[in-house]
Amino acid sequence: MIGQTISHYRIVIKLGGTCKVRVRALDWSHGAPRPRWALLVQAVALVLVALVPKAQAQGLTTPPAAAAPSSSSSPADRVYRNGVIFTADARNRTAEALAIRDGRIIFVGSNQGVAPFVGAATASVDLKGRFVMPGLVDGHMHPLEAGAQLLKCSLNYESLTIAEMQRRIQTCLDHSASEDANAWLEVVSWFQESMRPAGVKTSRSTLDALKTTRPILVTSSFGHTALANTRALALAKITASTPDPIGGKIWRDDHGEPTGLLEDSAYAVFSDLLPKPTDAEYVAAATAALKAMSRQGITSFLDAAAPSESLYAFTVVRRAGGLTARAHFAPVIEPKEAGDLPGAVARVVAFAKQYDDGAIARSPGITVRNAKLFLDGVIAAPALTGAVREPYLMNAGTAEKPHWVPGPSRGPAVYFSADALATVLVELGRAGIDPHMHADGDGAVHAALDGTEALRKALPIADIRPAIAHDEIVEPADFPRYKLLGAIPVLSFQWEKPAGDTLGLTNYFGLARMKILEPAGLLAAAGARIAFGSDWPVDKLDEWFALKVGVTRTNAPSAPPEYGGRLGDDPGLSREAVLRAATIDAAYELHADEATGSIEVGKFADLIVLDRNPLEVPAEEIAKIQVLETVVGGNIVYEASAVPGAR
Ligand SMILES: [Zn+2]
Repeated sequence: MIGQTISHYRIVIKLGGTCKVRVRALDWSHGAPRPRWALLVQAVALVLVALVPKAQAQGLTTPPAAAAPSSSSSPADRVYRNGVIFTADARNRTAEALAIRDGRIIFVGSNQGVAPFVGAATASVDLKGRFVMPGLVDGHMHPLEAGAQLLKCSLNYESLTIAEMQRRIQTCLDHSASEDANAWLEVVSWFQESMRPAGVKTSRSTLDALKTTRPILVTSSFGHTALANTRALALAKITASTPDPIGGKIWRDDHGEPTGLLEDSAYAVFSDLLPKPTDAEYVAAATAALKAMSRQGITSFLDAAAPSESLYAFTVVRRAGGLTARAHFAPVIEPKEAGDLPGAVARVVAFAKQYDDGAIARSPGITVRNAKLFLDGVIAAPALTGAVREPYLMNAGTAEKPHWVPGPSRGPAVYFSADALATVLVELGRAGIDPHMHADGDGAVHAALDGTEALRKALPIADIRPAIAHDEIVEPADFPRYKLLGAIPVLSFQWEKPAGDTLGLTNYFGLARMKILEPAGLLAAAGARIAFGSDWPVDKLDEWFALKVGVTRTNAPSAPPEYGGRLGDDPGLSREAVLRAATIDAAYELHADEATGSIEVGKFADLIVLDRNPLEVPAEEIAKIQVLETVVGGNIVYEASAVPGAR
């Protein structure tokens, strides 16, 4: 049994090899009503904080527990001095120095205050003014798939001409010339919406022109389109007489022949033809993903739709001592399981029993205390599979003289009925599992909030942290409900910019609704606690570009002129807010904020050293930040090759 609520403490009995008991004080969801005694405790705490001597203010954030060590017999393993340390504590305080012992932070405060922690064996790092912050917590990604893509032929999300695309794929073919003539070539991370010049069409002839006989399948980074060459179409038996499958489309030329472009379920057939990765390849993918994460400064992540292969691969890596980030997993509960939701929840609990390592420890482990529920598809065109409250507009005019009017479609019905969603959320709540709901359109978001309301009614004091991922369009009437219900929007900030995949939606939503697309700032203003999730590999892993966009809501300066300016009317987030979203607030989403997510005494030393200060550089420069060092549980897991004068 996991997650039995007893009084105001929550006792989580983790089953696994050993039976561990985790006791954690109940943390009310952000903004949820609190009992009076809790307010009293908080008031007393505030008075105590006010009484902390002014001496501690000198850039200094030493909480009471960080009192100087009683003797030099307990020196730190490592101290960092002369830095700008953004703690992400409740008051966003900064400090100059910190000390680490046994993987935990034992002091945060001034240079002077850290001195007593320095012993003969203490490593002392002079930061020379560099910026330190908590390690990034990525609250939504798909690391196994992402790692696998790192090892495949990749178009790297770039904006390419057809000739450039052909050259890149030919290079991959040439580099794998030893493969036999029938070996598949899989090409990934194709940014179809950004091909140059705008509107250029690809087809199988794009691939047939290459010097090879091998079957080729190119998949788009959005995950909704594939391009196959003639050989691949033949192997998949896709011909002029193949009907479009449900939920998919086979693009055809004037003679009805497949062009090679396939949408959604129309290319599902290839999953049986492509060689299934071996266990060793899964492990290699997990390893590659972890390496990429450390370079970006990610110290915790959520696999937001974890297949068993992901749990397996990261567990193998952990056993070999190679897990360099705290790994959280959300196995998927499918809509088709609606007939047996208790059984579906039991399946997630069984995953937890098999893989979860228990309470967060110094060494990164595996945590399974989330479950993923897809409530809709995506609002991106041409899929338009996001469930929306107002119909998608459609062109009732011509291509030359468009006339956009409300069409018949509000996207698909939300994948779970209201009853099924309420049932599964309550079952998950009883099991101590946090739901992570994919909700892209405002219809799905509304359903997610309704489900959360049902969960709160059924289990009013349970410490369950429902996350609603993506939230690309949200009805303004629903903005305050996130705070009210303690639902966490998990946002991919890099989408909050003018680009092919956002501006391409203007026609389908109309200008008025487009103004509040990607409503991060509006949700924050309504009191929501926002967590960041990159959704890698839907987008390239570039956390610092994403955080930059979260602040500026602009594309890169190098983007084509049509993608200039800000996206919509949303005010965006402050720099502190984006840093919190990618640290302490994502740690809160993962139920890991008591151990990680901020630089505070008693927490594990998960932190990063940066080459510049994201709170001070021109906003555009946040995208250029380089991580110099990544530390997890006090251990350095990544160091940039040249760290001039960092120690
Ligand atoms: Zn995702």
